[in-house]
Amino acid sequence: MTSLTVEALTASYDTTVALQEVSFTIPGGAALGLIGPNGAGKSTLIKAAAGLLPKQGNVHYGDLEVEALSMRELAALRAYVPQQSEAALPYTVAEAVAMGLAHQSRFYGTPAEPARVARALAEVGFEKSATARWDHLSGGEQQQVLLARALVASPDVLILDEPVSALDFKHRTQLVKTLKQRVAQGATLLVSLHDLALAALLCERVLLLAHGRVLALGTPHEVLTPEILGAAYGVPVVCGTHPTLHTPTVELDPRAWQ
Ligand code: ADP
Repeated sequence: MTSLTVEALTASYDTTVALQEVSFTIPGGAALGLIGPNGAGKSTLIKAAAGLLPKQGNVHYGDLEVEALSMRELAALRAYVPQQSEAALPYTVAEAVAMGLAHQSRFYGTPAEPARVARALAEVGFEKSATARWDHLSGGEQQQVLLARALVASPDVLILDEPVSALDFKHRTQLVKTLKQRVAQGATLLVSLHDLALAALLCERVLLLAHGRVLALGTPHEVLTPEILGAAYGVPVVCGTHPTLHTPTVELDPRAWQ
């Protein structure tokens, strides 16, 4: 198992300071949900944690500092799924998923491993043929393929930026099941989510970012309160409890428009 530690992480774009002094540790085999309003710095934090952005501060996978790793070593340790899918490229679904194995092949070719590719596609509930063209898929189907590409090599650390944004209820459920299984098997998960109730049922801890800083870090019950969320999002919200899991739920508050 591999822990993910972020220490005093600061990141900027030109004149915008997007993240300031963010610190946390995710023990190996644990899940941290990243929440916060638009522009809070979630995607910046995800990219910096994935080793894809210049930064100040430290990011460690286990004992290894991210900047000391080659792209191939990094790819073997962690998978990153961006929020937006990449450019429309004329690959098949199977080819796109197999790219998640490229670091294992000597010349960075994509090894033909149809059984592993099929297993990863089943894990995300992809229902079309693996010979379908990637650029002919719907947004939700493309998101499933990117997730399968992240899962196919079974990396120790999964870093996912809004992985359910385009998924329907059935595929959300399937992904929650798969991610819970992966974490139970020892994977370390950092996942940004706008759906706060989903963060609560997927992650044992959540980190609330606002204006690039950590506003709260704790269990879902500690962080998902009307006071804390109202301050972070700038609107009142209604907090409840999931009827069977007893995790917090968060709904829009009609007082905001009545
Ligand atoms: P979130 O994911 O929480 O919505 P982001 O990390 O995308 O937030 O953005 C944090 C801040 O950094 C925002 O103010 C955003 O405008 C800015 N930002 C993000 N990406 C860029 C970029 N490529 N160039 C300049 N500013 C950026």
